[in-house]
Amino acid sequence: MTFCGIILCPPSHEIGIRDLIFLEPFQRVSECIRHKAGVIGGGMRQQCSIQPQGADMEFTVKFWGVRGTFPCAYASHLTYGGNTSCLEVSVGGRTLILDAGTGLRALGKRLMRDRIKQATLLLSHAHWDHINGFPFFEAGYCPDFQMEVVARDLTGCECIGDVFTSCMEKPLFPVPLKTMRAELGFHNLHVGDQLDMAPGLVVKTGELNHPGGAVGYRIEYGGKAFCYITDTEHVPGQLDQNILKLIEGADVVVYDATYTEAEYATRQGWGHSTWNEGVKLVREADAKRLCLFHHDPDHDDQMMAAIERDARNGFAGAFAAREGVVLDMLNLPQVAMSERAYA
Ligand SMILES: [Zn+2]
Ligand SMILES: [Zn+2]
Repeated sequence: MTFCGIILCPPSHEIGIRDLIFLEPFQRVSECIRHKAGVIGGGMRQQCSIQPQGADMEFTVKFWGVRGTFPCAYASHLTYGGNTSCLEVSVGGRTLILDAGTGLRALGKRLMRDRIKQATLLLSHAHWDHINGFPFFEAGYCPDFQMEVVARDLTGCECIGDVFTSCMEKPLFPVPLKTMRAELGFHNLHVGDQLDMAPGLVVKTGELNHPGGAVGYRIEYGGKAFCYITDTEHVPGQLDQNILKLIEGADVVVYDATYTEAEYATRQGWGHSTWNEGVKLVREADAKRLCLFHHDPDHDDQMMAAIERDARNGFAGAFAAREGVVLDMLNLPQVAMSERAYA
């Protein structure tokens, strides 16, 4: 029997066999919403029916959406990309999806085309720009597709499935969530938990500073670490200890670089950060590359190029996320990035 299980552990990340408890398999979405959602926490391990499907020794990250706040279908924004947050991580035979922004629509088509039958969606939080691709996720309507959706416990909701149910109800959307025929499971995450997704594949989580809360993720596999840190705001003059712990020695850190320093001066409390703060964090944490992410809708390609240039002058390993770019995490020293045709 294969486990994609989710291992939870105390903040010290010490896992003992006595902490492992097997729960019932993921439930179909209708049951999940009607009854108790899967709760990940308290030193438990969860059984999962999803089997690894891809190549084992693979660790690639593709950017399907890099924009923050609002999708930008403007010619002036297409070099960096206009879709909101969505990354595909193909790792250890699994497909992980980070956030379900508008980039998720094209990713769903690619999964169908390449006959990928399973995925795990890890949500940073449930703000619109991170979930509004979900109703348009084609794979979700296919009965032979399986997906587990993991999000932090949300105030006022039993699970993230409640959020999608509300978003897809009339008069907001004509197709209710129950129309999705895929086998979906919705699970709550307690921030700080560690997820054991497959042999050698570990996902760690950390608290971010954002209105309503957000989760940062660190994916470890094959001796490499990829971190996804959005949405988050820094406290000026004070490095975020939660983030430092999560990104320590990482190979790539995707970071919320929504604002320039000048913009941030008038937008404190809005829940976002700057590339300058990202540089401070990766330097302190001895991380190798900083990927600017969650680009502000007001930052067109010209401005993004200037921001990327400035960031690279501040830290040689800095670059701005672009839609369609693929990172090969297992071959980063030779090929940091490769541009591939947009699917
Ligand atoms: Zn956002
Ligand atoms: Zn947000």
